[in-house]
Amino acid sequence: MDPNSNYCLETKALCKQYKNFKALIGVDIHVPKGAIYGLVGQNGAGKTTLIRLLCGLQNPTSGTYSLYGIPHTSSAIHTARKRMGAVVETPALQQDMTARENLEQQYRILGLPWKNGMDDLLALVGLADTGKKKAKAFSLGMRQRLGIALALCGSPDLLVLDEPVNGLDPQGIVEIRELILTLNREHGITVLVSSHILDELSRLATHYGFIHHGVMLKEITARELENSCRKRVHLTVTDTPALARVCDSLGLDYEILSDRQADLYGQVPFTRLTLALSRENCEVQSFQEHNESLENYYLNLIGGNGHA
Ligand code: ATP
Repeated sequence: MDPNSNYCLETKALCKQYKNFKALIGVDIHVPKGAIYGLVGQNGAGKTTLIRLLCGLQNPTSGTYSLYGIPHTSSAIHTARKRMGAVVETPALQQDMTARENLEQQYRILGLPWKNGMDDLLALVGLADTGKKKAKAFSLGMRQRLGIALALCGSPDLLVLDEPVNGLDPQGIVEIRELILTLNREHGITVLVSSHILDELSRLATHYGFIHHGVMLKEITARELENSCRKRVHLTVTDTPALARVCDSLGLDYEILSDRQADLYGQVPFTRLTLALSRENCEVQSFQEHNESLENYYLNLIGGNGHA
């Protein structure tokens, strides 16, 4: 694995076996620097197992992973891991401490300059005004945000969040989503976030990895996924060069598939299109509309036997 790699996180043929049960089977994942990478999978798919391996909480049975190009077998992995913050399963909070006290303790553990940036961190996660309230009195959303603040204490470049919106109410979900977007866009933090709720991830993710029964089925960018899911009209025409000229003049997004076949994407203005084509003496022989939703895409991917 290459230290100049564009991936801050990469795995190769990663496997984890618990006795006879294979929780991860040859997983390859590539998290580009600057991405919000959505790890999508049903309950039991292997998301937490993968995240636990990446955080060094468990060892792989076989295969490798690298952080910032440093292989996990290298002694330098400990230094690379300092560039990573994580909230795995439930955040590890001291329930009898306030938000500030929790952060102070984390600063002490990490040996960080005393209180340097602590107010900013509390403000960033929306917990600046929680005063003497102890963590045990926090809402689930506040606890999750405090967990994220703890993960951010060492100023990581990569934040790993395992199902951060699980169990949150709609308001809590929005707050976490906005926090992730702020961390990524304004602070340049790469985020790996797992969820079984594809719709929620679709509001955030720039990249996806779909994991199912321990197998990484597909990695895809948000742009590619959007293209796969958006409305598509499949046309058979007598003259695709003429169709291309017309599409260009109407500003339509299209792909010529053969000398008679093409796909048009998005909203297609049929009347204008057919009028313009007839002026070019190009005949439309057939058209078929396809409209694939995100959920359909996912169900097709996993073989139609699960729920997103
Ligand atoms: P969830 O959202 O339910 O946590 P997940 O995708 O995070 O799902 P994992 O927690 O990674 O899934 O679990 C993957 C599979 O591995 C599950 O079938 C689980 O029962 C199994 N598993 C996890 N940890 C162990 C363990 N320590 N011993 C045996 N099996 C385990």
